[in-house]
Amino acid sequence: MNTPSHLILNLALLRRPVAPVMTWPILIGALIPDAALFLFYGWGRQQGLPEQTIWGEAYYSQPWQAIFAVGNSIPLGLLGVALGYSLRRFWFGPSIGFLGASMVLHHLADLPLHHDDAHQHLWPFSAVRFISPISYWDVDHFGRLGATIELGLVLVASAYLLRRLSSRLSQALLGITTVLIVVAYGALVLAPLT
Ligand SMILES: [Zn+2]
Repeated sequence: MNTPSHLILNLALLRRPVAPVMTWPILIGALIPDAALFLFYGWGRQQGLPEQTIWGEAYYSQPWQAIFAVGNSIPLGLLGVALGYSLRRFWFGPSIGFLGASMVLHHLADLPLHHDDAHQHLWPFSAVRFISPISYWDVDHFGRLGATIELGLVLVASAYLLRRLSSRLSQALLGITTVLIVVAYGALVLAPLT
């Protein structure tokens, strides 16, 4: 799943109706699993690698696969939830818990939508990867279906969130992000069909 989709989905599912709503821990937790990807892409560009080599070869190489595994670890996310729960009496406890929960939700959303680019979600206990038949982007593996499922979830989550956000700024940010996701879907999924 694409990073902006995780941000919207996790906020819709985890944000609480009363203060503290935990917006920032949820957003940071949703970002952590993909953080290494941004570093990786920056590195690839800096090395002068073509786009195809970055995503088709370098992505699958070591040490990058080992680095991606850390952020995508379900046990690590669960550790955050457990830590947050045991520290809940401290002011920072709930933040750690929600950050961990948001990481786990990101992992669970990725599980059914990654084919051969799947992550090692059980790091450090196992290097096993769940190869889903459906990809969120790869047209050779139902990528159009995967992208459409992702878009549907994002639209429902956005509509739900929009009425619950109190500030005009956050509503605008959500609106702009959703529009960009729809435009990207149109460019990547619909345009090649016409
Ligand atoms: Zn991810």
